Amino acid sequence: MNRTYSYDDVLLMPKYSDIRSRSEIDISTDLGKGTKLQLPIFASPMDTISEGAMAEAMGKVGASAIIHRYNTIEEQVCEVQKVTSPAIVGAAIGVSGDYLERAVALVDGGVDFLCVDVAHGHHIMMNEALKLLRRKFGNDLHIMAGNVATLVGINDLADWGADSVRCNIGGGSICSTRIQTGHGLPGFQTILECAKTTRDVKIIADGGIKNSGDMVKALAAGADAVMVGSLLAGATETPGEIFKDTNGFQWKTYRGMASKEAQIDWRGKYSSFEGVASRVPHRGTVNTILQDLEKGIRSGFSYSGARNLKRLQHRAQFVTQTSSGLSESRTHITTRKW
Ligand code: IMP
Repeated sequence: MNRTYSYDDVLLMPKYSDIRSRSEIDISTDLGKGTKLQLPIFASPMDTISEGAMAEAMGKVGASAIIHRYNTIEEQVCEVQKVTSPAIVGAAIGVSGDYLERAVALVDGGVDFLCVDVAHGHHIMMNEALKLLRRKFGNDLHIMAGNVATLVGINDLADWGADSVRCNIGGGSICSTRIQTGHGLPGFQTILECAKTTRDVKIIADGGIKNSGDMVKALAAGADAVMVGSLLAGATETPGEIFKDTNGFQWKTYRGMASKEAQIDWRGKYSSFEGVASRVPHRGTVNTILQDLEKGIRSGFSYSGARNLKRLQHRAQFVTQTSSGLSESRTHITTRKW
């Protein structure tokens, strides 16, 4: 059996840098067919993360959101059409039921790209859906698909018609897939595996990203962009009300789309549940949250002496760290015994 690594198991070796200011660094990413982001971050297609207001706010800073599909076709198109700036907005569809009708309505409604959004993307129904979507829309539309955890998975989705693939099964903060099903692969290892692809396909590191350091590790390991839920869930612009606990602290709900709670809300019953519902502290506007993440990413590029994503991936040298290495990496003043 092979040893596999999570984000916390690795660090990037600092490299000589001739970059005098972080403003010299270009962190943009080009995913092809018009999907170019100044900030390589997608907000997840989840009902507590991405609707119109979120997509608008993400777009304003050069990132993007994918409008979730747990609504009627008309509601989803309406959310897409709330986005006014030159933002790039995506929308999710499934692989069964009304997905083709939904896709046509979204494309007619002006969406920039589609995301075929299923938990186990390396699947016969994904094959059929991607082929049908390509026949319907031709080659000019950017189609994202996923999720997969293996090299053969990303290769197959690329061969079936995907331009970009969400990589990671079971690593999300609200996800219980690995515990419920015994399947998955640590998130960082997934990116290393998928980055071996020889296909012309872009890699989206999805789920389990806890901070800007994890983002830099994912990008350096071969991802073209990252996708996050929990890091953005506390933003004012996510769907759902801010609520206060008895101490007056402000919270927002964040839940897995395969949680019991989400399934009951969108289809009245639940089957296998592979996610949980939780709450996260309200953290202010998306803009504030993204500004901090962007600073961390730029700083990360600088420690590798890299002016752009290609150089980061070229210069990246990973080392593993032990659990004491991880304790040392975290701030540890508060846990020290004096
Ligand atoms: P986070 O950024 O760690 O919170 O993970 C967000 C990602 O978790 C999403 O982009 C999805 O890929 C994934 N996800 C969303 N809902 C569920 C679920 O209920 N179970 C498993 N994975 C989920």
